[in-house]
Amino acid sequence: MYAMWKQLKKKKQLNEISIRTFLHLLWKNGKLFSVVLKHTTPMFFPIRFYSSLCLVLILNSCNTNEIQSEEIIPEIKEEQKTSFIFEDDFSEEEKNKLENWISSTSEKAQELLGQFPFDLYYHFHREDSINQAVIFGHTARTDSINAAHFYVNPVFEAEEFSKDWMAPHEISHLALPKLPKSYMWFYEGFATYLSREVMIETGIYKREEVDSLNYARVAAVKDKFISNSFLPVVADSLISEHQYPAVYWIGASYFMEAEKQLQIKQTELNFCEVVNRFQLCCHTEKMKIEDVLNAWNEISYSTIFTDLFETYTNTPCYSLIENYK
Ligand SMILES: [Zn+2]
Repeated sequence: MYAMWKQLKKKKQLNEISIRTFLHLLWKNGKLFSVVLKHTTPMFFPIRFYSSLCLVLILNSCNTNEIQSEEIIPEIKEEQKTSFIFEDDFSEEEKNKLENWISSTSEKAQELLGQFPFDLYYHFHREDSINQAVIFGHTARTDSINAAHFYVNPVFEAEEFSKDWMAPHEISHLALPKLPKSYMWFYEGFATYLSREVMIETGIYKREEVDSLNYARVAAVKDKFISNSFLPVVADSLISEHQYPAVYWIGASYFMEAEKQLQIKQTELNFCEVVNRFQLCCHTEKMKIEDVLNAWNEISYSTIFTDLFETYTNTPCYSLIENYK
């Protein structure tokens, strides 16, 4: 029964099972008390009832701290509003194409990563001069506005937009609260890693392709991190030299490693599922990085995220990706 109780809690089904139901289950099968009384059945109802009650109270008191820390009551967000803002002139046909592209990417991203607990604002800027569907993108976030901007050449076919990585990347950023620039390696790594996961959902990549692509991208920047200094120092220096891919991919390797750890430690969750639950229970605008890592730990019943962060910020850089060849 204790195992069953733990299992239910682990699977987050506990909220759906009242103490009364649990009591009834115990009373009905009477298995535990049968063991105590060495199979003396049938038992009197009062004995079965009170023994069950005692057991439930004991179990409840034993787990008080754990239950309190788990009591993450999902906030039911009212319907999320999505606004499309056209900053330049676009024809109706172009507007439809761009809206469809971002709507479907945003929908797929949130199916995977959870519904973001805020309204969304997507801005479009016209960049006719460059021969590419999606030229540039960035997020713009304040306490109350969560926006993403896309600089596009709208003459390209819808297919060219849907296979581009920029929208999955920018929308993935929104699954994490805005963090200070000193954590750029972390939040860009987060969006870089998750953008590929979103692109599996949108049908652009297969799982095996993403795994080998990610691995190769990290291996390709390995020589930028042959240093005894810690990552925050090396990343700052690379950013000042505009060597962004190196910073993005060392950051992505944190999440690739976290994904491995989630599997090894049999947490029964992958990283996207952790992020998905994070939207429901915990995501607020003003979280610090420590709050985010602790929330992910709590969701995964592990210390993976803080332990790995400690490793990534306090061990010589060269050792972080020395296994990527
Ligand atoms: Zn980014």
